[in-house]
Amino acid sequence: MWSRFTAKGDAFGQYSYVDSYCDLKHRDISEVLSPDVSRTFVENGLEIAFPEDREFGVCLTHDIDDIYPPLHHTFLSMLYSVKDADMNQLKKHSLWRVNSKIPSPYLNFKEIMDIEEKFDAKSSFYFLTAEKDPRRFRYDIEDAGSYMGEIVDRGWEVGLHGGYYSYDNYENMAQEKRKLEAVLGKPVIGFRNHYLKLKISESWEILSKAGFKYDTTLGFNNVVGFRNGMCHPFRPYAEGKALDILEIPLNIMDIALFEYADSFRQAWEISKQILDAGQKYNGIITLLWHNNTFSSPHLKEWRKLYEKILDYCNQKNAWITNCGDIYEWWNNADVDYP
Ligand SMILES: [Zn+2]
Repeated sequence: MWSRFTAKGDAFGQYSYVDSYCDLKHRDISEVLSPDVSRTFVENGLEIAFPEDREFGVCLTHDIDDIYPPLHHTFLSMLYSVKDADMNQLKKHSLWRVNSKIPSPYLNFKEIMDIEEKFDAKSSFYFLTAEKDPRRFRYDIEDAGSYMGEIVDRGWEVGLHGGYYSYDNYENMAQEKRKLEAVLGKPVIGFRNHYLKLKISESWEILSKAGFKYDTTLGFNNVVGFRNGMCHPFRPYAEGKALDILEIPLNIMDIALFEYADSFRQAWEISKQILDAGQKYNGIITLLWHNNTFSSPHLKEWRKLYEKILDYCNQKNAWITNCGDIYEWWNNADVDYP
């Protein structure tokens, strides 16, 4: 069940499908595009009843790696704005640096929620509170605090994006959770680790002990698909006992998808194949689109694909919602794996 990743990934707490980009480009990924474990469960009698008679679920998530563009992002966005001859866009990406009254272009949660609302969808936003990071200091969580009220009031979710060095450290994880809860003003139940770092089953045990109710880190960092062959949430086991944490596997991450796909068309075809498999086996497909994607001129195609996916799923009458809703529903549904 855990065979679909390389030994190298293990040592770093991250899971790649192959060890190098070069191998990946020439690799047939069809074996991870089919949820074989879930298919077997369904063939053996697994039945899932979705709310309002929907056939499948789509879980939307955003990791908030930055709320202020680092300098190289600003340069790239300004360059593309000039190329597009888009003056408003150019102003948006430059003036916030010199005028503190102008918000950063990455404080774009309202814009993301407005897009999702058009498709009768909701999502989860995972914020970082860790101070240590291998690349740069990311942001002070208090700067995002004034935006969280609207996120929660509209029915979207705020969760923790665990720090790069925290996935196997209980103290760090508990402290990061407390920090987010102090700013949010309510308990946090949802989690995904930065860079998808996860140590099986240690991270799950730590998360459960820290009071999280679900995790959605289990996915590949350089390809899309079904890492453990499942398109359904499950409770992980450790030492023969089910842990008090629900894993909602991650299937499509924007960066990984576009790293693998050579074109918009191929990215769409792969996404469609995954979504159709989710529908076929009454599963849940989890997407991760980073917030900066929605405000970066050079990533316009990524944003376009997100809207295309939402439109497709909405037309198929999928239940498109956040991980918190999926957790509550699954927890009460009492699903029994055959
Ligand atoms: Zn991250």
